[in-house]
Amino acid sequence: MQPFKHAAAIIEKLEKHGFEAYFVGGSVRDFIIGKPISDVDIATSALPNEVMRIFPHHVPIGLEHGTVLVLYEGISYEVTTFRMEAEYDDFRRPSHVSFVRSLEEDLKRRDFTMNAIAMTANGDMIDSFGGQEAIHRKQIQTVGNPDERFREDALRMMRGVRFVSTLGFHLSDETKQAIQEHAGLLVHIAIERIAVEFEKLLLGEGVRQALLLLAETDLYAYLPYFEKKGEQIASAAMYNWDVIQSSEEAWALLLRAVKPENADALLKNWKLSNKKVHTITSILHCLVQLEKSEWNDMLLYQSGEEISIMTERVVSALQGERPSIEHVHSLYKKLPIHSRKDLAVTGTDLLQWTGKQGGPWLAAALGQLEREVVCGRLANSKESVKEWLKQCNLL
Ligand code: ATP
Ligand code: MG
Repeated sequence: MQPFKHAAAIIEKLEKHGFEAYFVGGSVRDFIIGKPISDVDIATSALPNEVMRIFPHHVPIGLEHGTVLVLYEGISYEVTTFRMEAEYDDFRRPSHVSFVRSLEEDLKRRDFTMNAIAMTANGDMIDSFGGQEAIHRKQIQTVGNPDERFREDALRMMRGVRFVSTLGFHLSDETKQAIQEHAGLLVHIAIERIAVEFEKLLLGEGVRQALLLLAETDLYAYLPYFEKKGEQIASAAMYNWDVIQSSEEAWALLLRAVKPENADALLKNWKLSNKKVHTITSILHCLVQLEKSEWNDMLLYQSGEEISIMTERVVSALQGERPSIEHVHSLYKKLPIHSRKDLAVTGTDLLQWTGKQGGPWLAAALGQLEREVVCGRLANSKESVKEWLKQCNLL
């Protein structure tokens, strides 16, 4: 309730200027469910320039969609003008919106009844589409005819399945059937928008049901690189997803089931950031090593602590066991060195001591030296390294 109390001042100020304003969207839904509230969104009859005039501290973050970010006592709120999305082209959300002065029109364009409830500053609900009843029944139902609503914007089908995961709700029969019929329209949607919903799906508490639904409704067949992987996606529902803590771990776990020929290409095709792709492929690489052996010094060293711990969680999700994070952490801490910088000698030392020219031998010697030290076969000191160089006939 606290976030609403604070933001009520914005609604009251808009009202004082003669406009209507309400809390809308996910925060109202989550408040009714009793979940912690994240972002509080406000919808208003005021046009964006009217909102900006009333609140001098603002950022015009999405004027073409009618959204102004209002900064109030150190917190920012999205204030969006009531709008209609009248014309939809190509099964995507429209690029143009028209602003309207009626709340009813604004609520009507929203995806699901549970997301189409408005709340006044003093907590009264305006619920023209039975959203509260749907929440009570844990039901996801489109506002209006699902066939039309999915034809307008096919992303809504993905959103429906991701709410199954994040809220633990179920699709109404009518909504589910419409997804089955229209799944193919998903090809019109930009992968970036699909990826946002997909990652939320992977991190929700109901991810197992959502994965089964992706398979059952055929939505999976329109996700890049998953076209022929319905069975594998459904099989991933068996994993112990509860231990997963990040989208990187979630992707790695899913890809263990999907077994793509080229995980790197798949992830890049989904337009994930390079950093994320790198983390996920590092986890996958570490997983392959762990299939051949237990955790060992060299694997921990090469993977680094962060990847090792993420991998441990994925392993435990695969095996249905509790992750031994403390164990991995202490093994990692015990390593004699944690990076090449920690070696007692440098390449320059080797060049000086041997009097040799640089060349491929130097990298090879440093690599071997690193392995000897990491695995505890050689003490990390200048003296023992010199001794070792002699044994290798380099000194
Ligand atoms: P979350 O709590 O996960 O953010 P949310 O419901 O707030 O869920 P958002 O993506 O933040 O989801 O969208 C905010 C609101 O905007 C939704 O509650 C819904 O009313 C509306 N909305 C979002 N996307 C669509 C869409 N594709 N079609 C229709 N309405 C939408
Ligand atoms: Mg939201």
